[in-house]
Amino acid sequence: MDSFDPAAVTVRSGHFIGGEYVDEGARRIEVARPSDGVVYASVPLAEADMIDRAVENAWQALRTSGWRTMPPRERARILRRFADLIAADVDTLGPLEALGSTRPIRDATGWDVPFTAEGIRFYAEFADKIGGDVAATDHDHLGMTIAEPYGVIGAIAPWNFPLVMASWKIAPALAAGNAVVLKPSEMTPFSVLQLAELAIRAGIPAGIFNVVQGDGRTTGDALVRHPKISKITFTGSTRTGAAIMAACAETGTKPVTLELGGKSPQIVFADAPRLDAVARRIAGAISGNAGQVCVAGSRLLVERSLAEPLAERILAAFSELKAGATWTPGTTLSPIISEPQAARIEAIVGRTLAGGAILRCGGRRADGGGTGAFYAPTLLSGVTQQSEAVHEEVFGPVLTMQAFDTEEEALALAQHPDYGLAAGVHTADLGRALRLVRGLEAGTVWVNRYGRTSDFMIPTGGYKRSGIGKDLGRQAYEANLRFKSVLIDLRE
Ligand code: NAD
Repeated sequence: MDSFDPAAVTVRSGHFIGGEYVDEGARRIEVARPSDGVVYASVPLAEADMIDRAVENAWQALRTSGWRTMPPRERARILRRFADLIAADVDTLGPLEALGSTRPIRDATGWDVPFTAEGIRFYAEFADKIGGDVAATDHDHLGMTIAEPYGVIGAIAPWNFPLVMASWKIAPALAAGNAVVLKPSEMTPFSVLQLAELAIRAGIPAGIFNVVQGDGRTTGDALVRHPKISKITFTGSTRTGAAIMAACAETGTKPVTLELGGKSPQIVFADAPRLDAVARRIAGAISGNAGQVCVAGSRLLVERSLAEPLAERILAAFSELKAGATWTPGTTLSPIISEPQAARIEAIVGRTLAGGAILRCGGRRADGGGTGAFYAPTLLSGVTQQSEAVHEEVFGPVLTMQAFDTEEEALALAQHPDYGLAAGVHTADLGRALRLVRGLEAGTVWVNRYGRTSDFMIPTGGYKRSGIGKDLGRQAYEANLRFKSVLIDLRE
């Protein structure tokens, strides 16, 4: 799908608790379309009593619905049906996702919706694969570990890929036999409601997958602190992640998975194969979703002799991007999620330029053909490790460029004091690539590519303050289980 009529998209609002919409709450949050800033709907804000209702509902459903105790292959079958319904619903889910987020419709229908479905299918296949282990013991004993679901998992998601980020949380949690209470971002609250409806149609018992709406301070915090939430899985900023971790510690050392921010380097050596392709990759890794991607490749480190030829090609790739509404055909540069976020990008670039950086392109708002906030792809050179755009996560299409002379210098520049989410290395020298793979402090290193493939077995997650634990892969499934140790004395 290449376009749609935003006026023709209908949204249903409310929380989704126990299989039903609950559109109650004294306070409401208005929701605007990023493409043009128009407020198109509102959601209720869940206070502590609504969170309690959702969590109690999930607890009851776990006790009575058989979700936890059914044969795992039956749970897998239901989840596969859920995935099939999502994939088949692309004409509803795609426009719903594109309308409320920064995802152009072509991407929403071509990637976000099918990738969401495939992630659920992937974890369905785990449902009967990991049950525990028998330990090596002396002959008088039998020792084992039994894998058990946690209970009710609280999932908190960001706005940048509303469906995909939510699916990375709910899919392994549900497959492992947990119930979930999901809080989407208050800026993108609607598409996951459609997921919750489809879950019921697929046969997931009412109350096993719930959605609560609201902000972070009241709703998110109440969810994190609820005594019957056994584990929190969160994707969002490092600052919020730290607040959530503190709240988890205060309310009973609750386990957490945290997928947080990044400031990822792309290192290009002069021998990198196919310079045109490298330039397109680098441009794409900072302009996709207008740079509003946790693993955005925001710091270009390039061997000095290649700096100018590469910069020229990146500028050419940037110039081809077309800003526009998510529903307009041919949009390749997404809107910025909100006016305050666009103003923040503008301020960081302004301060970096005032500090001596050289503006190679961009550095201004882009015209998206309407009233939304757009920011032009920006390349800054003449920067140092101290430049604000080099050390702060901008979350916009802003690329900094630094030249290096040696591999050691490249590695030193690549390490960020706080973040360690991802890194890219572009070189024809295998030994050098592997030395950097070992040396880089990052949860993911891509060599001669940048970004995920559809290989779900490869987990994602950060080193340092970019996070704790992993999404995707076997690791994320196991993180939704706890392991009980059993030792039986066979002589009695
Ligand atoms: P955010 O931290 O502002 O909000 C994320 C979610 O947390 C929202 O649902 C919000 O309502 C909620 N929240 C806010 N304060 C809370 C609190 N005190 N308690 C509980 N919940 C609270 O992040 P954002 O602006 O929505 O998303 C952008 C950030 O997410 C960026 O930093 C980006 O790097 C990060 N991100 C990381 C990954 C990853 O896999 N590492 C993926 C996507 C986004």
